[in-house]
Amino acid sequence: MAKHYDYFVIGAGSGGVRSARIAAQHGAKVGVAEASALGGTCVNLGCVPKKILAYGSDYGFHLEDAKGYGWDIGDKPRFDWPTLITNKNAEIQRLNAAYQNTLDKAGVEIVHGYASFIDDKTIDIDGQKITADKFLIAVGGKPRQHPKDTDALMATSDDVFYWPQMPKDVVIVGGGYIAVEFAHIFHGLGAHVTLLHRGNMILRGFDNSIRTGLADEMLKQGIDLHLNCDVSGVERQGERYVIKTDSGQSFECDLPLAAIGRVPNTEHLGLDKAGIETEGSGKIKVNKQYQTNIGHIYALGDVTDTPELTPVAIKEGHVLADRLFGDHPERSVHYDNLATAVFSYPPIGTIGMSEEDALKNGHEIMCYTADFKPMKHQLSGRDERTYIKLIVDYKTDRV
Ligand code: NDP
Repeated sequence: MAKHYDYFVIGAGSGGVRSARIAAQHGAKVGVAEASALGGTCVNLGCVPKKILAYGSDYGFHLEDAKGYGWDIGDKPRFDWPTLITNKNAEIQRLNAAYQNTLDKAGVEIVHGYASFIDDKTIDIDGQKITADKFLIAVGGKPRQHPKDTDALMATSDDVFYWPQMPKDVVIVGGGYIAVEFAHIFHGLGAHVTLLHRGNMILRGFDNSIRTGLADEMLKQGIDLHLNCDVSGVERQGERYVIKTDSGQSFECDLPLAAIGRVPNTEHLGLDKAGIETEGSGKIKVNKQYQTNIGHIYALGDVTDTPELTPVAIKEGHVLADRLFGDHPERSVHYDNLATAVFSYPPIGTIGMSEEDALKNGHEIMCYTADFKPMKHQLSGRDERTYIKLIVDYKTDRV
């Protein structure tokens, strides 16, 4: 006999957990399936472990900077990778338990196992059949493999969080969030970092002043940044790897990392059996109400074509549960002015349009900028600058 729910959520990540909890609090009978640890990418293989590693890396800079403030920390502070990874894992386990507690308290039933559609009304989880009035697909994504890495030699962010030892040389391919953040992490922890990006500047989509400003800071720190650089292949040589480029260069390392975007996690979900349509990119097609072409099946978060950011998935999950089970059928998510942060060194925070987008959208603008050496670095001796930019519509004075 199949077990029946009002709302069954596939994937207990940021969007799925929020949607399941809110729907249950509105009185629905809710279940959630998860094949891996509770909390999804953000908790297990994304924001949380990344931020912990970035904090760890920042201490390397702080220790050096402290000398100018009178601290004698000896000549060679020693960093221990296994300690950081063990403590990071313990924090993730604490959060997994907190997610379990949140779902239990809301009365959501958790089914551990991999869910796949048998038809548009039924899913199978390790032989158990489940039916529901409404399904939500919130399975997120996974790192994209590099197309020229035919033997899958390159690590992805998933692997790096469990890398057995601290690498000495890291070659990172990509120029987005993950590439830039791991460049900071490994550089701060003491590795030699090379970043290979196919474009003419890192962080496409960000304001040009921020992109070039960060690239300058990375170069000053000693990160080896190569732009307009396409990878042509990867080879293994004993314990080391060699990354080759179209221009004939080769880069040796003991950790080759591909950080070239993410793909939806739908491979074995049986979307075809339920008749669910996808975009060319493989992401699930939804309308503004997160409804797929099958009216009672919804999808949100990274498995759809939405900004791949945790707070976005959380908001979408919350709004959908309110619309379906609460008394807020009018609720929607506004995607303008999303705040975003990149945990580079120095870190970046932005909200609203870049200068380039403001001009493209026909605004007449004034840019107010400040570029200075922060007081902290007068004594630390670090040659690092802070940059602030405020973009204002000339006619309305709107920031
Ligand atoms: P991004 O989309 O940020 O960047 C992908 C990078 O890979 C781009 O520089 C892109 O170049 C490059 N690229 C894509 N395909 C290829 C290819 N075939 N060969 C070489 N380079 C390629 O993806 P990330 O993997 O860095 O991160 C995934 C998502 O996760 C991000 O979009 C972000 O939304 C989220 N995230 C958010 C964080 C935060 O909030 N702090 C932190 C980490 C991730 P090009 O620009 O030329 O297309």
